Amino acid sequence: MRRSSFTRSARTTTAALTGALLLTGALFTGTAAAVGEGPDYRGNETINTSILSTYDDVARFLKDQDAKQDAMELEVIGQTVKGRDIHLVKYLSNPDNPTILYLAQQHGNEQLTTEAMLHTIKSLGSPSKASLLKNVNILFIPMFNADGAMGDVNFPLDGYLAKGERHLTRYNANEVDLNRDHVAKEQPETQALHENVLRAYDVDYAIDLHHQGTQSRVNGDLVSGSILYPTTPDVSPELVEKSKRLGSVVYHNVDRTGWGHIGRYDGGSANTIGRNGMAAEYGIATLLFEMRGMSDHEYAPYVLGQKSNGYLIRQSVLTMEATIKAVADGSIDQADTSFWDTLPQQCNTC
Ligand SMILES: [Zn+2]
Repeated sequence: MRRSSFTRSARTTTAALTGALLLTGALFTGTAAAVGEGPDYRGNETINTSILSTYDDVARFLKDQDAKQDAMELEVIGQTVKGRDIHLVKYLSNPDNPTILYLAQQHGNEQLTTEAMLHTIKSLGSPSKASLLKNVNILFIPMFNADGAMGDVNFPLDGYLAKGERHLTRYNANEVDLNRDHVAKEQPETQALHENVLRAYDVDYAIDLHHQGTQSRVNGDLVSGSILYPTTPDVSPELVEKSKRLGSVVYHNVDRTGWGHIGRYDGGSANTIGRNGMAAEYGIATLLFEMRGMSDHEYAPYVLGQKSNGYLIRQSVLTMEATIKAVADGSIDQADTSFWDTLPQQCNTC
């Protein structure tokens, strides 16, 4: 089933593309109740992957945008284990500009960040964004682990909960967690990222976009997501502070919406993790942002029904748009990092 979904008919692909575009176009814009006690799977909601963009949808969308947008360049930085192209979207107006990298779907079952990235890329094609793009260089990797996202892997996905044409899994086709491969760099996906992006461009900031489980709380309410700066001992206090400023832009823009509820992520200190490894090896200021709820998993408390898609995509878009603006206009340099001192660490019983 997983393989056939990759080679399905053009007609089916076109139908799925239409759905994907609708998804990226239909953003949550309201100020509904805080997500704190938002929808929950609990076995009675639809978890369906057919509304998510497939790899083919993403590739087609990017090629279409590349044809439409003068400022955008589309590069293939390598191939996945199964031979899918890994796409890098580039807006490089001036080598003297600060450069920010957005990375989505290191884990293939964390897909709404990808949908948000497609929306953000499309919006950068608006004439109103031209002046913004003169002052910042932007790199996007929308679907890093395309094999995992398509469930085209060399191990069984029995018991995964989502319905639809495919399952999505955290691991790459070799059952390796790519976000633990940033030191050894043994997988083709990780090698492509390091050789053709991190060593090829002078990246100042990076946001690594993920999804986490659904049950984490802060102050009694379920969080909409959680954030963290590099916690490896191998980075300077100055780089940690710069990373905290990146987190400040995200936190304050999401928090003021009324529906965002952000906690501190409880993350490890190993350099094998992208957030730490990119900071330690290249001096990049990094932020991890974990959105609530995964697209598919075998463990029910990790997956989230579609009712939450709108605000979770919106949260990711807001994260990218706010940080692009703050880096472009330099306001990130004045971002207040004091909130980190009191930001509660999320937990399932908090
Ligand atoms: Zn993840």
